Amino acid sequence: MVFTLPMAPSTRLDHYWTLSEEDVCQRIISAKKTLGDRLMILGHHYQSDEIILHADETGDSFMLAQMAQDSQAELIVFCGVHFMAESADILTRDDQVVILPNIRAGCSMADMAVLEDVELAWEYILDSTGLRDPIHRNNPDEHAPPGESFLIPVTYMNSSADLKSFVGLHGGIVCTSSNASGVLQWAFDRAGSEGKVLFFPDQHLGRNTGLEMGLDEEEMVVWTPNDWQKEDKRSGIIHPKLILWHGYCSVHKRFTVEQIENFRKLHPDGIVVVHPECTKEVVRAADAYGSTEYIRRFVASQPSGSNIAIGTEINLVRRLNLAYPDTKITCLDEKICPCSTMYMIQPPYLLDVLEQCCEGKIPNQIIVEKETADEAILALRRMLSIHV
Ligand code: 13P
Ligand code: SF4
Repeated sequence: MVFTLPMAPSTRLDHYWTLSEEDVCQRIISAKKTLGDRLMILGHHYQSDEIILHADETGDSFMLAQMAQDSQAELIVFCGVHFMAESADILTRDDQVVILPNIRAGCSMADMAVLEDVELAWEYILDSTGLRDPIHRNNPDEHAPPGESFLIPVTYMNSSADLKSFVGLHGGIVCTSSNASGVLQWAFDRAGSEGKVLFFPDQHLGRNTGLEMGLDEEEMVVWTPNDWQKEDKRSGIIHPKLILWHGYCSVHKRFTVEQIENFRKLHPDGIVVVHPECTKEVVRAADAYGSTEYIRRFVASQPSGSNIAIGTEINLVRRLNLAYPDTKITCLDEKICPCSTMYMIQPPYLLDVLEQCCEGKIPNQIIVEKETADEAILALRRMLSIHV
């Protein structure tokens, strides 16, 4: 079989796309052998089997950040999306290099929050509420002193490095879907009893986590940049404790309560597990929810013969289906929902970067400017201290 081409190739890549799947696979194996201990390949759970086959380690975004931080390899090839590779670059030493096999593999949700809009929101909320900016605290890692209230920024891992830097600078923290409730608790402890949290970019992870922690719906509000600029809605942010950016994941938005109801009608004993990027209605209707690693472990823990419908990206669902042949595992959405940017990491791209490394070149390096990284690392280290 010859790979289908998802985008225009460079001249060098042209050649790789004409190779058979088997040839590409063998050449990746041989390049890995040449690079030996100098190389570590990390693979997110949403990567295809053809990529995961070559990964030294796999995991959810929390685990991959930890692995990057702990790695001694000189070359870290990150098979995932841009924000994951940026975080790896921030967490690794200056003499280590992080490479993204396809530089265009971004995340549409991460693109929904840009620094300029977040800064405007930040100023507007501080101005409207009279809360203090933790940037002025001597030690933002300590709980808020009694009687003092702050606005604490929390960014989901799925965000650009400059937002992580903003968060680090303003005494905030990064979260992933695996430690979001621990992170929100951390943030509320630093906000003080009258304080608030600004959470971006995923409104669904923020809302699902807020609900899990016992917040009422009325204690949360969605911030949509242009709407808030058009009208004076100051009063709307006085009461809520959690202000949620309007972002969402287009892959997880496809899962519906109707799909869960249809599945349950056909399989009354069936089990549903979803990712917390799904809407609150879907999370509520499911039996369990959690990060990609949580979903993997959840499936592994079910008795053989179970019938499980999963609400997350299709590559992970397919892999779990193959790994547990005695369990019936399907995707909640029959029409299948691939993450188009995760899909951009195709084997010919991996081969290309590895063979260039073998030639002494450093292709597709992800570099976060020192100024940005110095603040972002504070927020990432706080995240890594909140154990899953
Ligand atoms: P995890 O942190 O659960 O791996 O999720 C990352 C992601 O992008 C989900 O869409
Ligand atoms: Fe981004 Fe959604 Fe893809 Fe995850 S599944 S990387 S949130 S677009």
